[in-house]
Formats: sequence, structure tokens, C-alpha cells
Amino acid sequence: MGKYQTYLIFGAPGSGKGTQGRAIGTIPGYYHFACGDVFRSLDLRTPLGQKFLEYSSRGELVPDEITVQLWKIRIDLLVEAHTFDPQCHCLILDGIPRNVAQAIMLEDTIRVRRVIHLSCPDRSKLAHRLKKRALRDNRFDDANESVITHRLETYDKESLPVLTHYGSNLVTRFDATQPAIVVLSQITALLVEDRAALSLEDGFTVQK
Ligand code: AMP
Repeated sequence: MGKYQTYLIFGAPGSGKGTQGRAIGTIPGYYHFACGDVFRSLDLRTPLGQKFLEYSSRGELVPDEITVQLWKIRIDLLVEAHTFDPQCHCLILDGIPRNVAQAIMLEDTIRVRRVIHLSCPDRSKLAHRLKKRALRDNRFDDANESVITHRLETYDKESLPVLTHYGSNLVTRFDATQPAIVVLSQITALLVEDRAALSLEDGFTVQK
């Protein structure tokens, strides 16, 4: 089996990765996978669930080994169940890799076609969105100011270097402060543009 054809959705907490990822995942030929959703689906009474709670409630990243191992187990299950078919689905990966170490650990599994960078340098706008989401979705990791601040610091320190790791040739920046539908139309234009190159990939069938 070759590597998974992948688009990374990358951006700070609150930049709209989940919103965009879910929307793209409804289009035939694209499969949305959000790392945060996998963690949130864990039973919090299990040792793994407890680890997630420990780190996420502090606004920190779960250790890389655990994260990547969990990711691989889940994706393998999806392939086995034919829910995600690597021969005709592009993976829309949201929330992973979150640092350069994870990017290197995923290298043998994913072929990154493009990094979709949802950019929002205005941290107060992000904090505002996170607070709104905390109320709506009951998310404890967005619930208080100091955790939000730490989440944004973690992003700057650990996640931003991922963009340099992939390099400017692979990264496309989108202004995440625009309305969601505008950002979505810009991302889908990029995906459409890549279809010709995608159709040349060995063993991959582009959906009509
Ligand atoms: P998210 O929904 O993507 O904001 O993720 C919520 C929380 O899950 C994060 O604050 C982290 O604690 C954890 N998490 C999600 N993805 C990762 C990842 N790739 N690496 C480490 N921790 C992660």
C-alpha cells in the first residue's frame, strides 16, 4: 500500500480547522480525520483517556508517541472497514502533525500534497472564538483564559515550525478571518486545481 494522499489543515486553535475539514469531508473523494475528535472519543476513565485529560486540560499537546500510535491504530481501522479508502479518498488531516517530530513520524504513512494554513495573527479573535466554542460544545480545554493563552503559546512554539518543515512550496495561506464560506471556496479551488496531478498518482483513482 502506498502513502495516503493527504492535505493538511493547519492553524491555531480557533482558526476554523474543524469547520473547514468537516465541510470538505462531505465532498466525494475526501475523508476528514480530526485528531482532536479521536482524543475526545476516548473513554476518560481509561489510562489513555486520563492522559488526554491531563494534557489537554492544561492546554498542552499529548506526547508524540501516544498521539501517533493512536492515530495509526484509528486510521488502520478505518481502512479495514473501507470507511476510508486510500485508493480513492484524499485524507483531509486536521490537528496532526502538531509539531515537527510528529511530521517526521508520519512521513512513511502520508504523502503531503499541500498544507492548508488557516492564518489568523490576531490572537484576541482566536481567544474570542474559543470561548464561544467552549460554551457551545462544552469543551473544558477552551473553558478558561489561562488554558486558552497556553494553547495559543503552545501553537506558536511547537506547531508553527511545522510550516517551515514543509516549506513555502507546499504551504498555501488562507485568511481565516474571512467568512467560513469564503475560506471554503478558496480551499476547494485549490483542491480542484490539484485534481490533474492527483490523477497521475500510481494506484489512485480521482472521483468523477
Ligand atoms: P483540537 O481539537 O485539535 O484542538 O485538540 C484538542 C486537544 O487534543 C489538544 O489541545 C491536545 O491536548 C490534544 N491533541 C489533539 N491533536 C493532537 C496532536 N496531534 N498532538 C498532541 N496532542 C493533540
